[in-house]
Parts: sequence; structure tokens; C-alpha cells
Amino acid sequence: MVNPSMAALGNNRSTIRELFEYGNQRAAVVGRENVFDFSLGNPNVPAPDEVRQAILAEAAGDPVALHGYTSAQGAADVRQTLADDLNRRFGTAYTGDSLYLTVGAAAALSCAFKALACQGDEFVVLAPYFPEYLMFIESGAGAKAVIVPPSVEDFQINPDALEQRLSAHTKAVVINSPNNPSGAVYSEQTMRRLAELLQSKEKEYGHPIYLISDEPYRELVFDGVQVPFVPNYYDDTIVCYSYSKSLSLPGERIGYVLVPPQAADSAELYAAVCGAGRALGYVCAPSLFQRIAARCTGLTGDLAVYKTNRDLLFDGLTAMGYRCVKPAGAFYLFPQTLEPDDRAFCERAKKYDLLVVPGTDFGASGHMRISYCVATETIRRALPLFEKLAEEYR
Ligand code: PLP
Repeated sequence: MVNPSMAALGNNRSTIRELFEYGNQRAAVVGRENVFDFSLGNPNVPAPDEVRQAILAEAAGDPVALHGYTSAQGAADVRQTLADDLNRRFGTAYTGDSLYLTVGAAAALSCAFKALACQGDEFVVLAPYFPEYLMFIESGAGAKAVIVPPSVEDFQINPDALEQRLSAHTKAVVINSPNNPSGAVYSEQTMRRLAELLQSKEKEYGHPIYLISDEPYRELVFDGVQVPFVPNYYDDTIVCYSYSKSLSLPGERIGYVLVPPQAADSAELYAAVCGAGRALGYVCAPSLFQRIAARCTGLTGDLAVYKTNRDLLFDGLTAMGYRCVKPAGAFYLFPQTLEPDDRAFCERAKKYDLLVVPGTDFGASGHMRISYCVATETIRRALPLFEKLAEEYR
């Protein structure tokens, strides 16, 4: 007999995947250009040209070294280069020994959860959240996820709501800024209040409460917004990073876990992250893309199109009466649906071939996620359809 919960996970596609498949079916009927698929967070901006140049330069080198295994934690010179880059940008003093290279942020998170989870532990997740957290925490690490309801007025952190969910069982709190799905960037004030709360709870419970900072959108911000670097606010932080969005390399699967030396029990924690990677069978992160990440430090894809798309969609939808917190980063808009039942609303949107994801999937009912990492023309052509949809509610 197979593990029934794994079979259930494999059989039950996420709503996002369902929508994606539905979009493909509709495209065969009405034409690809008439399906407005805002479901997936797949960057539409190409990787910067330097990535291609780096691949060519690496390909000209020794193929055995290029494609061979690296150390489990990643090639030492690559890790040092990435640590130097963090130090330059955030005034830190890390060495490569604080970094563990991974198969994207998903693996970084899975390693962090598994490294920490002991019997009876709870991981606190703030809604709206990336739905896979629940999978990684519960099915992957065998721990319990505790959800904090969203602060829908600004999608910052409500410290009182968070405090109510913290307990002696809390092993870590997971945050994600810039946020998928709200696009919110946690302000410096939010970070300070969060750090104060967690520090006081660490004292009260007499054990560390780690902050797992999931940062695949770190560089994707607009209007000069600064993303506070979380370890500079709270010592017991573990950073999970990925190049999937910043370099538009989601299929190449490259990212890292950063365990800063300031974090409680950091040497043990780093060993546990390596152990988790081993237990999960990751062996090492893709060796070619370890080298590409090192060659492309400080670069991003051209983010201008995301800003254009955000402005077009935000201005267009709010003018029609949709209510929405203006996102400061990532490439998602998270407006309120025009009826409380977000699933019913998203079903109705399909009538116009508008594919948007119900907020319930992210722990925030009454909302929809619109991924705007699409061609600007798609947004231009979709806006009249959002207007027709809104007319149904007037
Ligand atoms: N965390 C968040 C918030 C995400 O949105 C995603 C991907 O969309 C991931 C993690 C996983 O990223 P990766 O593709 O690097 O595994």
C-alpha cells in the first residue's frame, strides 16, 4: 500500500494548477490570446543577458567539473561570493559557511522546516500565505501550521493577532516580504515591532523562536521602496532565498538557506539544515546554476514591465470600484472580490476567460490573486472584461 496522504497530495492538484490546465483547454477552443491567465507566478521577463553569457562562459570550461557533484552545501567559492554580495548590500559579515545552496526556495523552506521540527512543534504562518507552506510544514516536516488571520487593511503584520497564536510550542514564525499574494512589503516599523514581540516571547518561553524569512521577491519592488533585511532586525532569523524570480530562472531551481552566525545555536542549526537536505535527498544544488548565481550577483531581470503592469491594473481596477491595497513589490495584485464568496466570484470570472485565483487558497477569503507577470497587452485587453464582470454586481 502506498502512503495515502502522499497519493492525495499527488492527485489533488492545487487550484492554481487546475486553472492553468483549464486555461490550456480554453486556449484550444477560443485561441491562446483570448484566455487571460493570471493564475501562475511564472516570470514573463527574460533572464538578463548576463545569464546567457555566464552559461556560455561556464560551458567553455572543464565539463567534468561543470557537471559534477559539488559539496552538499554548495561549492565553497560560490558560497563565499554570495556571502560577499550580501555583506556588500546589507552591511553584514557573513562567510560562505553560513550559506547552504538549494534547489530553489521550495527546497530552502523544506530544509529549514525539517531542520527545526521536533515532536509537537508549531510553525506560525501569516495569512495571506504561499499555500505550499502548509504542505512543507505538515506533510514534509510532520509539524503543525498555525495560521494568523490577515490584516486586510494594509497586509502588514498585526502584532496582537500574531501574539494570540504564539505559544510555548512555537518553533518558528514564517514571513514573506515582498509578499505572495498581497505584494505587501513589510515596513521597517513592522519589522521592529515583530522583532520586539518575538524577543519578549523568547524570554517568556525560555527558548528561541526562529523567524523564517522567505524572500524570493526581495529585489522585486517599486518606487524605491526598501525591503528591510530581516537578520539586521532579529538575530534568530533564517533566510530562504531563490533566484527564480529575481533572475527569472524558476525552472533552473537555485536558491539558498542563510543561517546567520548570530542565530541561536547557529552551528547546530546549520548542521541540521545540511542534515535535512540529506534526508530529503537533495544531494547538492544544480552545479551549473550555482556558478551562474555567483557570476550574476547584483543583477535582476528588467523589472520595468512589472511596474507598468502593476500601475495599469491597479489604476484600472480601482477606477472600476474594485478595492485593493496597492502592492509595493512582487508581481501580484490581491483585490477584494465583489462578493464575499471568492470561489464563486472566480468561477464567474471564467465566463470572461479571466483566470484568477481565489484568496481562500492563500488563507484570505473575499480576495482574488491576479498574477501580472504577463504581457502588458494582455492586461490592456483584460481590463474591459474586468469591467463587464464588475457590471454584474452593480
Ligand atoms: N515562496 C514564495 C512566496 C513563492 O511565491 C514561491 C514561488 O512562487 C516559492 C517560495 C518557491 O520558489 P522556488 O521556485 O524558488 O522554489
